[in-house]
Order: sequence, then structure tokens, then C-alpha cells
Amino acid sequence: MVSTKDKIEHHLSNYEKVKSSFLWENVAKELSGLPEGRGLNIAHEAIDKHALTNQKNSIALRFIRKDSNFQDFTYSELKIQTSKFANVLQNLGIQKGECIFSLAGRIPELYITALGTLKYTAVFCPLYSVFGPEPIFQRLSKGDAVVLVTTAALFEKKVKPLIDRLPYLRYIILTDSNKHASDKILSFTQLMEEAKDEFKIPETNPEDPALLHFTSGTTGMPKGVLHVHKAVYTHYITGKYVLDFHQEDVFWCTADPGWVTGTSYGIIAPLVHGITSIIDEEEFDATRWYSNLEKQKVTIWYTAPTAIRRLMRMNIKPKEIYNLEKLRLILSVGEPLHAGAVIWGLENFGIPILDNWWQTETGGIMIANYPSMNIQPGSMGKPLPGIEVAIAEITDNQIKLITEPNTQGHLVLKKGFPSLFRGYLHDEERFKKCFIGDWYLSGDLAKMDSAGYFWFVGRADDIIKTSGHMVGPFEVESTLMKYPSVSEVAVIGKPEPTIGELVKAFLVLKTDINPNEETKMDIMAFARREMGPAVAPKEIEFVATIPKTRSGKILRRLLKARELGLPEGDLSTLE
Ligand code: ATP
Ligand code: MG
Repeated sequence: MVSTKDKIEHHLSNYEKVKSSFLWENVAKELSGLPEGRGLNIAHEAIDKHALTNQKNSIALRFIRKDSNFQDFTYSELKIQTSKFANVLQNLGIQKGECIFSLAGRIPELYITALGTLKYTAVFCPLYSVFGPEPIFQRLSKGDAVVLVTTAALFEKKVKPLIDRLPYLRYIILTDSNKHASDKILSFTQLMEEAKDEFKIPETNPEDPALLHFTSGTTGMPKGVLHVHKAVYTHYITGKYVLDFHQEDVFWCTADPGWVTGTSYGIIAPLVHGITSIIDEEEFDATRWYSNLEKQKVTIWYTAPTAIRRLMRMNIKPKEIYNLEKLRLILSVGEPLHAGAVIWGLENFGIPILDNWWQTETGGIMIANYPSMNIQPGSMGKPLPGIEVAIAEITDNQIKLITEPNTQGHLVLKKGFPSLFRGYLHDEERFKKCFIGDWYLSGDLAKMDSAGYFWFVGRADDIIKTSGHMVGPFEVESTLMKYPSVSEVAVIGKPEPTIGELVKAFLVLKTDINPNEETKMDIMAFARREMGPAVAPKEIEFVATIPKTRSGKILRRLLKARELGLPEGDLSTLE
């Protein structure tokens, strides 16, 4: 058990107490809502409401540009810019509910587009800028994009060849051109200059569509997940209870808005709480990241296991080199966080890394290690107040909740919470399959211990059936990660006639280790000792890298397809 209590001043003095008295209806009272009872709009909660208070001159977003210069937007500047963009959409004749896409790096225009689109009550969908033309085409067409905001270079390279195949795409707005090129290819600057800076947010039903997000594509073809304005309830309460936002905080979410974390927490949640967020335009770079934490005096840092593992591999002690005394909270999401990483955080930053679990479909954090509670390294934590999570057995489309602790089953969530997705776009069948009765099936397997902590087992698709045992790859991977020369690992089930599937591990060794037969034997022996022969890998292969999605998730299905010589499937999100 690791306690963070002494380090952190927190809202959630007693998790159980907050949980027992929690009502979603009461959250409505803490949000401001649109004036004159005109509904609930994410952009109003994120910007306009602060622009009317003392917060108006504080920094909402600080961009660290590639050349390391800053560009700051106060809440009132952000209000003006996003109102202008909403007027741009109006001037272009865009209708409420139509879909506005962005394809850009983490530049201010992307954030202005996102929030301006929400103000206008159109739907915003961000695409990761490194996608190639085909994945871009698939997503734009699936989302019925009417406007795309992008840069001139990305347009030339990736979008121009697609235009004839996208009949619904009415306008392409280039962020870095000064003048319109045609009736269709427009200049962001020129449009913004011509737009008024006052915009009255129209009546917004909390159920109005707001955001479209494509999943990471870890288990197959990415799905287009639709969220409504009411999702802001979850952004707000997770900002309060999980991220522990206070007015003076400087927050850094390292995710790109091309993934849901980069929108829910890279844009919306910190703004709703009126705090300052920093956004780095540059990709991962350990030295740059540590110096961002130091120079920007970051207090709360939200990142992912893949980045943490890269920092861990560096063999430097950040606290000895950088002054990180302001940093009081580190959180991680996206993949299981090995217990070793939690401890590494404790040793190197003086605070553990707080794991939390959620998905594109849930719109916000659902299970978390709260700053206020004793955390269990290796566990995802406990459910958010207002969210009912259970472990279930599912057979023949029947669901049975498992009450026995430490029993593996499907991780399911009681439907009806505000940020649960409202559909997979143009895929009603697949959406329906996610529900049985009152329960949403996450597709992940987990266990709950007797103290109510949830432990990740694996994705249902990745589970290995070997000699009558169900083996979660995470368990095997976690154990192998404990072996000192192992730097990264991915485990799959390989079909084998007598035992069903055998456990096969792909290992990346630390740079100074020789990938020879002896090392392999040592690791195998270690694994058998730690896990027993039934679960320990029967095959080990040393590889240079593990294939991952752009959002840092291990693509086990690709390793398996390659192993079996099968088609590789959708690789649009492969890093
Ligand atoms: P796709 O649905 O297209 O296969 P994906 O599920 O990876 O892709 P996301 O919605 O980005 O797309 O990721 C959510 C998934 O990430 C979860 O269902 C879970 O498998 C994994 N995940 C997220 N956070 C954690 C965590 N803290 N521990 C373990 N797994 C996590
Ligand atoms: Mg998924």
C-alpha cells in the first residue's frame, strides 16, 4: 500500500463518503449551464463562463511551439477566438450537428476549431496528423465531414488526392495560408479576420451530439464513437475527484487530441475547471519533457504507460537533475501500468503514478486510483462516484454478475451515465452488441478484490486459452517485466493442437544485453519459477520493437497475425 495523503491537498477526503452520497443530478448544480436556461454546452462550461469572472485574464492554454517559444491564450482571448470560429461556421452556412474535422499537430488553430465547433453546436472530430491518406479518407467519409481544418502541407500531401472521393466535404480550411485559394480551399486567417468576435451560443440540448472520436484500432477496425454535450458532467467530476484540479494548478496532458484523452483531458476538463494547461507541439523527447515539467512548474501531469516506460529506460534520476518540486500528481491511462512503474514514480518523483482506466466509449475516466486513497500498485483503482462497475460472466448473451472476489470476468458498467457514448457512427448493430440489459460490456476482462479495487486482466480478444487455463497477457507481461534485462514485452496465444494455445512472449531486451540462447533459458526459468509452468511462456522470441498503435497500445493481434501468417488487418493506427 502506498499513501499519497501527506503529499496532496484534496477534495475527496473520503472516497466512500463522496461515493455514497453522489448524485448526477447534483453535478448539474455545479455546472453553470447556458444563460437564460438555454441548456448545456461544453464550450460555455470550458470558456465563456470563465471569461465573465476574475479568471478572464488567466492563462487557459499555453502552447509550447516546436522552437520552444510560448503562445498563451487567456480565457477571454480564447472566448474571442472561438466565437470568431463559430461565426466562421455560420458564415459558411454549416448546420447544427454537421461534422467538422481537424487534421493538424497540436497547434492553436486545432483547439480553436474544436471549441468553436462545440459553441456552434456542430460536431467536432480530430484526426491524428500522422495518419496516411487512406485512414484519413475512411474517417472523413464515415463521419460525413463537411469541413476539414488542416495545414497546407498536410493538405498537399494527404488530402488533395482524396478530394474527388469526398463529395460531402464542402470546405477545406488551411491554417497557414493568408488568402483563400478557391471557393472550396479557404484561409483560416482570412475567415477569422472577416468574422465577428461576439457569438451567442444557441440553445444546446445536453443530448446534442458534440464529439466524434475514433477508437485506437487495437482490436480491429477503428470505430467512430459519438458523444453528447452532457459528457461534460464526467469531465467536470473527474477533474475534481481524480485529477484534483485547483485554481492555481498547471496541468499537462501529453496525449494528442487525435485520441480521446487528448480531447477530454487535453482540452475540456482543465478548461471546465478554469486552470492553465500546457500543450507541447513536439513529440516525445525525454529531456524536453522533463524540462517542460520543471520550467512550466507543472503540478499535475497526465501521461501514458508507453511514455513512462521510455523514461524508465533512460536510467537517469530526474529529481537529481530537474527541480520538480511543484509536481504533486502523476496519472497514467491507456494501457495497464505495471506495479514496477508505480514504484519507479515513488522512487523518482516522491509520488506514485496513479493508474486509471477508461475507453473512448466511456468519454472520461471510470476507474481510478484517487489521490486521496491508499493505492494498490498494479490495480486500476476504484470506480468513479456515480459509476457502477461490476465483473460478470457472459454466456449466450446472458449476463450474470460475479460477486466472489478475485474472480476473473468481463468488466461491465451500468449504462445511463452522462458520458457513455450514444452510438458507433453508421454501425448500429455493433453498438447494440455492446449492451446486455442494463449493462455496457467494455470488452475488457478484470477482477475485483475484496476491498473493491479493480485489476486489469486483458482484453477479451487477447485472452489465451492454454491447457484449460484462461491466461491474461497482462499477468504474464507484468511478471516478465520484473526480469532485469527485459525492457518491453508482449504476449500472445499461439494455436497448438494438444493444449489449445501456447503462451508466446515477444521480448525487447535492454540495449546492453545479449539476445542469446542462454538469456532465453534464464528468462524461461525465471518465468516458470514466478508463474508456474502452466502459465509461463513456452516460446520466447527476441525482437527489436513491439508493434504499437499511435496511442501507445500493444498490437497483439498484429503479432498473432504475423506469427500465423494471416492477413494483418487494419493498420491505420500502427506507429
Ligand atoms: P479498439 O476499440 O479500436 O480496439 P482501443 O480499445 O485500444 O481500440 P481506446 O478506447 O483508445 O481504444 O482504448 C481503451 C482500452 O485501452 C481499454 O478498453 C483497455 O483495454 C485499455 N486501457 C485503457 N486504460 C487502461 C488501464 N489503466 N489499464 C489497462 N488497460 C487500459
Ligand atoms: Mg476498444
